[in-house]
Amino acid sequence: MNNKILETENVTVSFDGFKALNNLNFNMDVGELRVVIGPNGAGKTTFLDVITGKVKPTEGRVLFKGRNVKAFSEYQIARLGIGRKFQTPRIYLNLTPRENLEIACNHNKNALFTLFSRPSSAEHSKAIALLETIGLTAKSDILAGLLSHGEKQRLEIGMLVAQSPDLLLVDEPVAGLTDEETENIGNLLLALAQSHSILVIEHDMEFVRQIARKVTVLHEGSVLCEGSIEEVQNDPRVIEVYLGQ
Ligand code: ADP
Repeated sequence: MNNKILETENVTVSFDGFKALNNLNFNMDVGELRVVIGPNGAGKTTFLDVITGKVKPTEGRVLFKGRNVKAFSEYQIARLGIGRKFQTPRIYLNLTPRENLEIACNHNKNALFTLFSRPSSAEHSKAIALLETIGLTAKSDILAGLLSHGEKQRLEIGMLVAQSPDLLLVDEPVAGLTDEETENIGNLLLALAQSHSILVIEHDMEFVRQIARKVTVLHEGSVLCEGSIEEVQNDPRVIEVYLGQ
């Protein structure tokens, strides 16, 4: 049985001949929490784009749960079980965190429909449980627009989890956050990692140290090295690439 949640095989993405990803081979196991780092321009965003189907490989294959996703649209790939968290939270600021989560719990309905209909008791219960998980129970009924930046990030992570994805992609979740908010996000991801496969793109090395078991370093569109945070940090190739920035 294939226990890989995600594999990229010799994936190249060319933009007018420039290879943003260059023969990229990557895989992660079901249940793994992986952090991908790399200097600016290394290909991290393109990597997420190619996993989610926003960008199609020029060459190579992307396998999600062992399945080649080449023929699927971005929307279809999301429905297969990939939840992507962007850097800027995408939440409904004029609704409460509880309402945001209730909407996310039933992503078959659209937001307007959910707003004008009462959530089912299952959706309500799931939303209440998720509020606890993301540490926002005390703020469940204020407007989401009044939350701090870190709380908004946690709410959006909760909204993704509400959709029960098999793989959670999280793009720089702690950019611009205070140390305390950063630690909260780290603790949340560690808690979620007990029951989810999670791929995090991150710049903040303190944060990477907090959450990472295994780190992949991207450079010029390829995997430069992989290993524990200590192995990666002491790798002369990684030091050279970062010092060269
Ligand atoms: P990172 O997220 O690691 O900073 P990106 O994936 O955004 O890197 O970009 C990798 C490289 O590909 C960069 O040199 C970038 O300029 C280039 N690139 C990304 N998207 C495009 C595009 N749509 N057209 C042309 N070049 C692109």
